[in-house]
Amino acid sequence: MVGKVTVTEPVDEVVDLVSALIRFDTSNTGELDTTRGEADCARWVAEQLSEVGYDAEYLESGAPGRGNVFARLPGADRSRGALLIHGHLDVVPAEPADWSVHPFSGAVEDGYVWGRGAIDMKDMCGMMIAVARHFKCAGIVPPRDLVFAFVADEEAGGKYGARWLVDNRPDLFDGVTEAIGEVGGFSLTVPRKDGGERRLYLIETAEKGMLWMRLKARGRAGHGSMIHDDNAVTAIAEAVGRLGRHQFPLVVHPAVDEFLTAVAEETGYTFDLDGPDLDGAIAKLGPIARIVGATLRDTANPTMLTAGYKANVIPATAEAVIDCRVVPGRQAAFEREVDEIIGPDITREWITELPSYETEFDGDLVEAMNGALLATDPEARTVPYMLSAGTDAKHFARLGIRCFGFIPLRLPPELDFAALFHGVDERVPAEALQFGTRVLEHFLRNC
Ligand SMILES: [Zn+2]
Repeated sequence: MVGKVTVTEPVDEVVDLVSALIRFDTSNTGELDTTRGEADCARWVAEQLSEVGYDAEYLESGAPGRGNVFARLPGADRSRGALLIHGHLDVVPAEPADWSVHPFSGAVEDGYVWGRGAIDMKDMCGMMIAVARHFKCAGIVPPRDLVFAFVADEEAGGKYGARWLVDNRPDLFDGVTEAIGEVGGFSLTVPRKDGGERRLYLIETAEKGMLWMRLKARGRAGHGSMIHDDNAVTAIAEAVGRLGRHQFPLVVHPAVDEFLTAVAEETGYTFDLDGPDLDGAIAKLGPIARIVGATLRDTANPTMLTAGYKANVIPATAEAVIDCRVVPGRQAAFEREVDEIIGPDITREWITELPSYETEFDGDLVEAMNGALLATDPEARTVPYMLSAGTDAKHFARLGIRCFGFIPLRLPPELDFAALFHGVDERVPAEALQFGTRVLEHFLRNC
């Protein structure tokens, strides 16, 4: 039944939509038996779209309850490649006792929408629904086909989400040539050397590779009271210590170079890549320095250790898991460096291997992002940047789709945006959602 539904302007709808999305607890623990799934949330999204006339497809990806929704809006020129607009419906778990408000309340207070997923990434999902509904109701025909995708399991690597969909339902992406999703499009206010500030919008054009590595040491089992020179726990601890303290070489990828050059132009600060205090210069960017700093080199952070079962028994094996993030083009060199550090007696294997991703900051789609941001914030300047983490873009890129991180949000200068990802008291300014919806609408009318 179409026609009975009155749809208000998308900017009036978006806050309620994001709040409603947050109220579905779609926590993803990474284990099927403790993850309730995205089904209820996805079915609700499908309803929001079908009640205005979309032919929204609900489907489960590889396991019961792992719900996804796809909806296509035909464009004026159907010979052009389609644009995929994707968001994930799952969130990382939250511990209510740590929060100021209940993480699944979707409370709208003090100008913010509060709750798990507010910026990662039910904000974008709400903006997508608002704009998709508006286009359908107002009879707006975009320049080319738009494919709206709401997917499961991003927070655990997409095994029951994007990865499964790309492997098993490539037909959903028929004709798709480009995509937007997380993490980019947000504003970053940087201090100028001569006083004042400058607002930049960061568009993600590259992602580091996400390589989770298991190290294993083998020794001789024995009694904990005796002299023992072949202890697997000692061996793994030494390897983990060396790797964890190692600094990989500085590698300035073009996306990072372009970002630092633009920031230098706008602020008057310089980033001397060969200088002794590059980290200090980057720290001037504020909290985003944690991400930017991590894109200057590969990283290998030890995250898990497993060994032993009794205080007086030396185990035969000991294991560690290392979260490795590798700059595009560096994987072979990274592996050689790791092998040298861990030595010949420790074995390694990948438990997750998602390669890096990179594209250029140019072309019509980038122009459309620029135009949409400038129309809404005439002070804006867009700059490309590399994300130190990984997103579903890694899976879509396997289909030859050119991916960007573009979730437009104009944020208050003092907000520590980076800390909100997976953080306590995750929240998004209501005004930022309304701003983002305006930009997204402008962008999709001109893509
Ligand atoms: Zn996310």
